[in-house]
Amino acid sequence: MNFQFDRLGAVLVAYSRDAQTGEVTRSWLRFDQAGTAYLRQRLEQPAETAERCQCSRALDPTPCEGPQDAVLILSATNTGAYGCETHGALRMAAIEGSRAVSHSVAGAAIRVHQAAGRS
Ligand SMILES: [Zn+2]
Repeated sequence: MNFQFDRLGAVLVAYSRDAQTGEVTRSWLRFDQAGTAYLRQRLEQPAETAERCQCSRALDPTPCEGPQDAVLILSATNTGAYGCETHGALRMAAIEGSRAVSHSVAGAAIRVHQAAGRS
């Protein structure tokens, strides 16, 4: 997969190969102007600033807010991931039975619990 730009904006292009026929097909997804501007901005950023916390998801491009180890989100089986408060709350809301523990920021777990809809 790669991004290509043309006069209308950005296109995400993916090539796939049929295992039986060997035929290669090209599929694409076009972004609107706001999406194109956002992609250009993200692609021009150095890798360090584009790095995000362990709780962020690939499909959600929102940047981290605050320290990337503000909280530790633990699943019901105690599998943990460090995260900023924003992504920590999203992860906690998505995982049944999970809980937050403050790590580098005092009081972060309380805010994450509230943001995730638990108290
Ligand atoms: Zn984050």
